[in-house]
Amino acid sequence: MIDAPNNLTRNILFGMFAGFVVGAVFYYTNIFGDQISLFFEKYVFLLGSTIFINLLKMLIVPLIFFSLVSGISSLSNLNSLGKITAKTIALYLSTTAIAVTLSLAVGSLFKPGAGYNSEISIAPESLPPSQGVFETIVNIFPSNIIQAMANNEMLAVVFFSILFGLALNKTNHLTNNFSQSFEKLNTVFMQLVITIISFAPIGVFCLIGKFVIVDGLDVFQEAFKYVILLILVLILHVFITYSLLLKLLTSINLKTFFIKMKDVAIFAFSTSSSAATIPVTLKTVQNDLGVNKNVASFVVPVGATINMDGTAIMQGMATIFIAQMSGIDLTLIQYVQVIILAVVASIGAAAVPSAGTITLVLILQQFGLPLEAIGIILAVDRILDMLRTSVNVTGDAAVACIVAESEGLLDKKIFNK
Ligand code: ASP
Repeated sequence: MIDAPNNLTRNILFGMFAGFVVGAVFYYTNIFGDQISLFFEKYVFLLGSTIFINLLKMLIVPLIFFSLVSGISSLSNLNSLGKITAKTIALYLSTTAIAVTLSLAVGSLFKPGAGYNSEISIAPESLPPSQGVFETIVNIFPSNIIQAMANNEMLAVVFFSILFGLALNKTNHLTNNFSQSFEKLNTVFMQLVITIISFAPIGVFCLIGKFVIVDGLDVFQEAFKYVILLILVLILHVFITYSLLLKLLTSINLKTFFIKMKDVAIFAFSTSSSAATIPVTLKTVQNDLGVNKNVASFVVPVGATINMDGTAIMQGMATIFIAQMSGIDLTLIQYVQVIILAVVASIGAAAVPSAGTITLVLILQQFGLPLEAIGIILAVDRILDMLRTSVNVTGDAAVACIVAESEGLLDKKIFNK
């Protein structure tokens, strides 16, 4: 297993705090004079944050490609798993879509970013040309995959990755298990993600500093609203969406389910990584919830990779927050685009700490929203990452129970024990 950097949380908090202090000193006082202030703004904060954002952007396409291809190509038997696979994927995608929708609904109702007008707003020329439904659909099917990758056309990249993963899977017997090479490449990429994330403390320092030196501290009152609303939606999703689905699609006792999930949730909370939590989730789903081993061993790891409802909730709320902060009203079609992109972005996010904030970039980019705002999101992200990872793994277990029960593969004796 790839280890997350030591003391990352502490260091990010420290970077954030230092960014606040240094930025605020320059914004509220003039003890260093204009020259030094301008130097700091440009050659420390702007330079550092631009490099950090570039590194994040650099990862997106290969990250999505390798994680999807290695996930799909390593499914051991596509045919016998056919029905279970279809149900699992359908449930994963729909719960994630519900999650973002809930997040967008709450976000547009309570407006976390309204009333604040950042000077770091978007320049008009960076607005993307508005896209209709027709173009959105056509763009899923690239005529040139290299061009699609170069233009960051995520849906096209996802489409190609799925096709490629399936082909790889089908030809494994001819290619001497070539798919294993992709699993290895995926591991290498995870390491790259971790390496770049380990620079997050410096990145956060520069991003926060850049905000505060230009705008002062007011913006973080708005971030407070974002945090509270996000936590609210995470709780609603677990206790309403999952409860309803489990109630409707299974006959298991909800209270028992949540009590038995406690350890998994706590483990996910403390590691901030669904991947690191896989052994605990698997154990609980099989030994405590009574899900058949074959179902669990497929549903849980796939879920850790592609099912991230908590992450999607964050991405929906963050998009609304940043759009409102930049004074942009998203149209209905853009809301639908956010739902699709957040589902994709949460699939593409690696199951490691903070990965969701990396794929958030792709959504912001799609709407020409200021990527600098990621600084605010990252500043408050640590605790939110812990919480949403708990939601992510709870979703995996809920789907495992639903799929198992629908196939008659849930042992009630074990569940009720
Ligand atoms: N930390 C999350 C997970 O592993 C991913 C994220 O949202 O950043 O599930």
